[in-house]
Amino acid sequence: MRVTVKEKLECYNCGEVDQGLLVYHHLVPIMKKYNVSDMRGYSQERRMREIDKCICLCQNCHAKVHRELELSSRMMNQDVDYSIED
Ligand SMILES: [Zn+2]
Repeated sequence: MRVTVKEKLECYNCGEVDQGLLVYHHLVPIMKKYNVSDMRGYSQERRMREIDKCICLCQNCHAKVHRELELSSRMMNQDVDYSIED
């Protein structure tokens, strides 16, 4: 799968184009090897390989996505007692 939106460098969610606010968000956290912003000095090819796993989001939307991920993982890990008491 190739996401072409990030080539335009705007927030995938709200369309923000301020470069200072944009971050790369890994779609599949388990595939994340590096933070793209920590990859200065790496070859363009390695950076592009990492960017290929990401979508572009502004810091606002990125924070929201992470908050929702955290909430949903907390909900999934919740101990729910389904036993029926008589
Ligand atoms: Zn946004």
